[in-house]
Amino acid sequence: MPNVLDHLFDHVCVRFLELLSPPRCAACDGRLHRDAVFCASCVGSLSPPELLPLGVTASFGYGGALADAIRRFKYGQRPDLSRPLGRLVREGLPDRALVDLVVPVPLHPTRFRARGFDQAALLARAVATALQRPFSATLLTRVVDTPQLATLDAASRATAVRGAFTVRERTVPMGTRVLLVDDVRTTGATLRAAALAIVAAGFAARTHVLAATPVHGST
Ligand SMILES: [Zn+2]
Repeated sequence: MPNVLDHLFDHVCVRFLELLSPPRCAACDGRLHRDAVFCASCVGSLSPPELLPLGVTASFGYGGALADAIRRFKYGQRPDLSRPLGRLVREGLPDRALVDLVVPVPLHPTRFRARGFDQAALLARAVATALQRPFSATLLTRVVDTPQLATLDAASRATAVRGAFTVRERTVPMGTRVLLVDDVRTTGATLRAAALAIVAAGFAARTHVLAATPVHGST
Protein backbone atom coordinates (compact mmCIF):
# COMPACT_ATOMS: atom_id res chain seq x y z
CA MET A 1 0.00 0.00 0.00
CA PRO A 2 2.77 2.54 0.79
CA ASN A 3 4.07 2.01 -2.77
CA VAL A 4 0.68 2.91 -4.21
CA LEU A 5 0.57 6.03 -2.04
CA ASP A 6 4.13 6.97 -3.05
CA HIS A 7 3.22 6.56 -6.70
CA LEU A 8 0.07 8.64 -6.27
CA PHE A 9 2.07 11.31 -4.46
CA ASP A 10 4.65 11.42 -7.30
CA HIS A 11 1.87 11.62 -9.87
CA VAL A 12 0.18 14.51 -8.04
CA CYS A 13 3.53 16.32 -7.69
CA VAL A 14 4.29 16.00 -11.40
CA ARG A 15 0.84 17.30 -12.36
CA PHE A 16 1.17 20.18 -9.89
CA LEU A 17 4.55 21.14 -11.38
CA GLU A 18 3.00 21.00 -14.86
CA LEU A 19 0.31 23.44 -13.70
CA LEU A 20 2.98 25.82 -12.42
CA SER A 21 5.19 25.36 -15.48
CA PRO A 22 3.27 23.77 -18.35
CA PRO A 23 5.32 21.79 -20.91
CA ARG A 24 6.48 23.87 -23.85
CA CYS A 25 7.40 23.04 -27.43
CA ALA A 26 11.13 22.22 -27.69
CA ALA A 27 11.46 24.44 -30.77
CA CYS A 28 9.20 27.48 -30.23
CA ASP A 29 8.05 27.38 -26.58
CA GLY A 30 4.41 27.12 -27.72
CA ARG A 31 1.91 25.40 -25.42
CA LEU A 32 1.96 21.61 -25.63
CA HIS A 33 -0.40 18.77 -25.15
CA ARG A 34 0.93 16.52 -22.44
CA ASP A 35 3.63 14.02 -23.53
CA ALA A 36 4.36 15.84 -26.81
CA VAL A 37 7.80 17.27 -27.65
CA PHE A 38 6.72 19.66 -30.43
CA CYS A 39 3.58 21.76 -30.87
CA ALA A 40 1.11 21.05 -33.66
CA SER A 41 2.65 23.59 -36.05
CA CYS A 42 6.26 22.48 -35.45
CA VAL A 43 5.67 18.74 -35.61
CA GLY A 44 4.80 18.99 -39.31
CA SER A 45 8.36 20.02 -40.15
CA LEU A 46 9.90 16.75 -38.91
CA SER A 47 11.23 14.44 -41.58
CA PRO A 48 12.51 10.85 -41.59
CA PRO A 49 16.25 10.31 -42.04
CA GLU A 50 17.69 9.39 -45.41
CA LEU A 51 19.42 6.08 -45.91
CA LEU A 52 22.54 5.95 -43.73
CA PRO A 53 25.67 3.75 -43.77
CA LEU A 54 25.55 0.34 -42.09
CA GLY A 55 25.79 0.62 -38.32
CA VAL A 56 24.40 4.16 -38.21
CA THR A 57 20.77 5.09 -37.55
CA ALA A 58 18.96 8.36 -36.84
CA SER A 59 15.62 9.30 -35.38
CA PHE A 60 15.02 12.10 -37.92
CA GLY A 61 16.49 14.04 -40.78
CA TYR A 62 18.13 17.31 -39.72
CA GLY A 63 16.03 20.39 -40.36
CA GLY A 64 12.88 22.32 -39.45
CA ALA A 65 11.77 22.50 -35.84
CA LEU A 66 14.21 19.78 -34.82
CA ALA A 67 17.17 21.90 -35.97
CA ASP A 68 15.74 24.82 -33.96
CA ALA A 69 15.36 22.62 -30.87
CA ILE A 70 18.92 21.28 -31.20
CA ARG A 71 20.31 24.84 -31.55
CA ARG A 72 18.43 25.92 -28.43
CA PHE A 73 19.65 22.83 -26.59
CA LYS A 74 23.33 23.32 -27.53
CA TYR A 75 23.82 27.05 -27.76
CA GLY A 76 20.80 28.54 -25.95
CA GLN A 77 21.65 27.36 -22.47
CA ARG A 78 18.78 24.87 -22.46
CA PRO A 79 20.24 21.62 -21.08
CA ASP A 80 16.71 20.87 -19.80
CA LEU A 81 15.80 20.00 -23.41
CA SER A 82 17.89 16.82 -23.00
CA ARG A 83 14.80 15.16 -21.54
CA PRO A 84 12.36 15.57 -24.46
CA LEU A 85 15.12 15.27 -27.08
CA GLY A 86 16.53 12.19 -25.34
CA ARG A 87 13.08 10.68 -25.62
CA LEU A 88 13.15 11.23 -29.40
CA VAL A 89 16.56 9.55 -29.57
CA ARG A 90 15.26 6.51 -27.71
CA GLU A 91 11.99 6.26 -29.63
CA GLY A 92 13.85 6.29 -32.95
CA LEU A 93 16.37 3.66 -31.92
CA PRO A 94 15.90 0.26 -33.62
CA ASP A 95 16.81 -3.03 -31.88
CA ARG A 96 16.81 -1.53 -28.42
CA ALA A 97 17.48 -4.92 -26.82
CA LEU A 98 20.88 -5.22 -28.53
CA VAL A 99 22.59 -2.65 -26.32
CA ASP A 100 24.86 -3.46 -23.36
CA LEU A 101 26.32 -0.01 -22.73
CA VAL A 102 25.39 3.52 -23.81
CA VAL A 103 28.29 5.88 -24.57
CA PRO A 104 28.18 9.50 -25.78
CA VAL A 105 30.45 10.75 -28.57
CA PRO A 106 32.55 12.97 -26.30
CA LEU A 107 33.35 16.64 -26.69
CA HIS A 108 36.96 17.70 -26.39
CA PRO A 109 37.51 19.11 -22.83
CA THR A 110 38.18 22.58 -24.30
CA ARG A 111 34.73 22.70 -25.89
CA PHE A 112 33.14 21.22 -22.79
CA ARG A 113 34.57 24.07 -20.70
CA ALA A 114 33.38 26.64 -23.21
CA ARG A 115 29.81 25.30 -23.31
CA GLY A 116 29.46 24.16 -19.71
CA PHE A 117 27.74 20.91 -20.59
CA ASP A 118 28.09 18.05 -23.04
CA GLN A 119 24.95 17.65 -25.13
CA ALA A 120 25.73 14.11 -26.31
CA ALA A 121 26.35 12.98 -22.73
CA LEU A 122 22.99 14.39 -21.60
CA LEU A 123 21.18 12.63 -24.46
CA ALA A 124 23.05 9.36 -23.92
CA ARG A 125 22.29 9.38 -20.22
CA ALA A 126 18.58 9.91 -20.92
CA VAL A 127 18.64 6.98 -23.37
CA ALA A 128 20.51 4.71 -20.94
CA THR A 129 18.03 5.46 -18.17
CA ALA A 130 15.06 4.75 -20.42
CA LEU A 131 16.60 1.51 -21.74
CA GLN A 132 17.73 0.51 -18.24
CA ARG A 133 21.27 0.01 -19.49
CA PRO A 134 24.55 1.24 -17.99
CA PHE A 135 26.00 4.53 -19.18
CA SER A 136 29.66 5.48 -19.46
CA ALA A 137 31.03 8.94 -20.19
CA THR A 138 34.58 7.72 -19.58
CA LEU A 139 34.92 4.72 -21.93
CA LEU A 140 35.70 6.92 -24.92
CA THR A 141 37.93 9.99 -24.65
CA ARG A 142 38.42 12.75 -27.21
CA VAL A 143 42.12 13.52 -27.31
CA VAL A 144 42.19 15.87 -30.32
CA ASP A 145 40.00 18.96 -30.74
CA THR A 146 38.94 18.75 -34.38
CA PRO A 147 38.07 21.81 -36.50
CA GLN A 148 34.61 22.37 -37.98
CA LEU A 149 34.55 19.45 -40.38
CA ALA A 150 31.75 20.71 -42.61
CA THR A 151 34.14 23.21 -44.21
CA LEU A 152 36.70 20.53 -45.14
CA ASP A 153 36.75 18.18 -48.12
CA ALA A 154 36.38 14.45 -47.61
CA ALA A 155 40.09 13.63 -47.41
CA SER A 156 40.78 16.48 -44.98
CA ARG A 157 37.89 15.37 -42.77
CA ALA A 158 39.26 11.85 -42.50
CA THR A 159 42.72 13.21 -41.66
CA ALA A 160 41.34 15.69 -39.10
CA VAL A 161 39.56 13.04 -37.02
CA ARG A 162 42.17 10.26 -37.32
CA GLY A 163 43.28 9.39 -33.81
CA ALA A 164 40.84 11.91 -32.29
CA PHE A 165 39.38 9.28 -29.95
CA THR A 166 40.86 6.70 -27.65
CA VAL A 167 39.55 4.05 -25.26
CA ARG A 168 41.38 4.07 -21.96
CA GLU A 169 39.04 2.17 -19.69
CA ARG A 170 39.83 -1.54 -19.38
CA THR A 171 37.12 -2.66 -16.98
CA VAL A 172 34.45 -3.20 -19.64
CA PRO A 173 34.38 -6.81 -20.94
CA MET A 174 35.47 -7.51 -24.51
CA GLY A 175 32.56 -7.97 -26.90
CA THR A 176 30.32 -5.49 -25.06
CA ARG A 177 27.76 -4.04 -27.48
CA VAL A 178 28.26 -0.30 -27.29
CA LEU A 179 25.64 2.16 -28.49
CA LEU A 180 27.28 5.46 -29.42
CA VAL A 181 24.92 8.43 -29.11
CA ASP A 182 25.30 11.91 -30.58
CA ASP A 183 22.95 14.77 -31.36
CA VAL A 184 23.73 15.36 -35.05
CA ARG A 185 25.50 13.44 -37.79
CA THR A 186 26.90 15.92 -40.31
CA THR A 187 29.75 14.47 -42.35
CA GLY A 188 29.89 11.13 -40.57
CA ALA A 189 33.68 11.38 -40.21
CA THR A 190 33.59 12.06 -36.47
CA LEU A 191 31.15 9.25 -35.73
CA ARG A 192 33.15 6.81 -37.81
CA ALA A 193 36.37 7.70 -35.98
CA ALA A 194 34.61 7.24 -32.63
CA ALA A 195 33.17 3.87 -33.68
CA LEU A 196 36.56 2.70 -34.98
CA ALA A 197 38.17 3.48 -31.63
CA ILE A 198 35.48 1.42 -29.86
CA VAL A 199 35.93 -1.52 -32.24
CA ALA A 200 39.73 -1.33 -32.05
CA ALA A 201 39.44 -1.74 -28.27
CA GLY A 202 37.55 -5.02 -28.71
CA PHE A 203 33.90 -3.94 -28.42
CA ALA A 204 31.04 -3.95 -30.88
CA ALA A 205 29.84 -0.48 -31.89
CA ARG A 206 26.82 1.05 -33.54
CA THR A 207 25.73 4.65 -33.62
CA HIS A 208 22.39 6.37 -33.22
CA VAL A 209 21.90 10.11 -33.57
CA LEU A 210 18.94 12.38 -33.01
CA ALA A 211 19.22 13.95 -36.47
CA ALA A 212 21.23 13.18 -39.60
CA THR A 213 21.91 15.65 -42.39
CA PRO A 214 21.50 14.36 -45.96
CA VAL A 215 24.35 12.07 -46.95
CA HIS A 216 25.16 13.65 -50.32
CA GLY A 217 28.88 14.27 -50.47
CA SER A 218 29.48 13.09 -46.93
CA THR A 219 32.02 10.45 -46.02
ZN1 LIG B 1 6.49 24.67 -31.72
